[in-house]
Amino acid sequence: MGHRPHLCQVLSRPSIWPRFSDSSITHIPPGRSNSTVTSDQQVQNPFGMDEDCTNCPGLTDCRESVVHGYGDVGAEFLVVGAAPGPGADQSRIPFTGDDGGERLQWILGELGFSRSSPADPEPDLQNVFLTYLTRCRHPDRDPTDKEVDTCEPYLNGELRMINPEIIIPIGERVLRALAIEYTMRDPDGFDLPEEHATTIRGRGFELLPMRRLDRQTDADAEAFVAHVVETVFGRDYRQTKGRRER
Ligand code: SF4
Repeated sequence: MGHRPHLCQVLSRPSIWPRFSDSSITHIPPGRSNSTVTSDQQVQNPFGMDEDCTNCPGLTDCRESVVHGYGDVGAEFLVVGAAPGPGADQSRIPFTGDDGGERLQWILGELGFSRSSPADPEPDLQNVFLTYLTRCRHPDRDPTDKEVDTCEPYLNGELRMINPEIIIPIGERVLRALAIEYTMRDPDGFDLPEEHATTIRGRGFELLPMRRLDRQTDADAEAFVAHVVETVFGRDYRQTKGRRER
């Protein structure tokens, strides 16, 4: 991994990180453009979705924020989590401010999608967009099926506007939800420890499933990075689009 810090160092260090220079990026993935998202572009909730949504009565009183998507709206890679973690609930920026967020940001840095340190509160992302199945956090439970259904139009809207090539579902809940619409497989047939760091061909997208961040080991994170570098960046993954009219 070159001179980048090891993941176990990343997750145990305090939130004082130097920003990496361009030359420190380990892998430069192919992308639609080489442009870096700049500070004057809106990367947080770029589609102006409702930040005061009250459609789920069981969530509106216990959340701090509605956390809509964040990142490069021209991205080829879309990361989908089940619901915001405690850090994102405070910061309004997906996958920031807690250990799970730092783990994902470390992975994105290793893949060349982030130029920021894993603990940066406003990651500098390119060719990746981060979002959720449900945008409000309940501190004591996972989202219900009804909440996932109620929130689905937001994710659907982002998917249509970004039109990514590759979706990275984090956790079994997300994989099953996306599999219903975007693969030919039985959603109940997925076993995420087995599917982690593999490629599932779907209708219009490829899925690269990832284990829940709070259940990942450092070896899991490194295996995911290796899979993407070796089997996705090394071929023309854009040909997926040719199989579906969108
Ligand atoms: S989870 Fe989604 S639909 Fe439910 S209140 Fe939050 S933003 Fe609205």
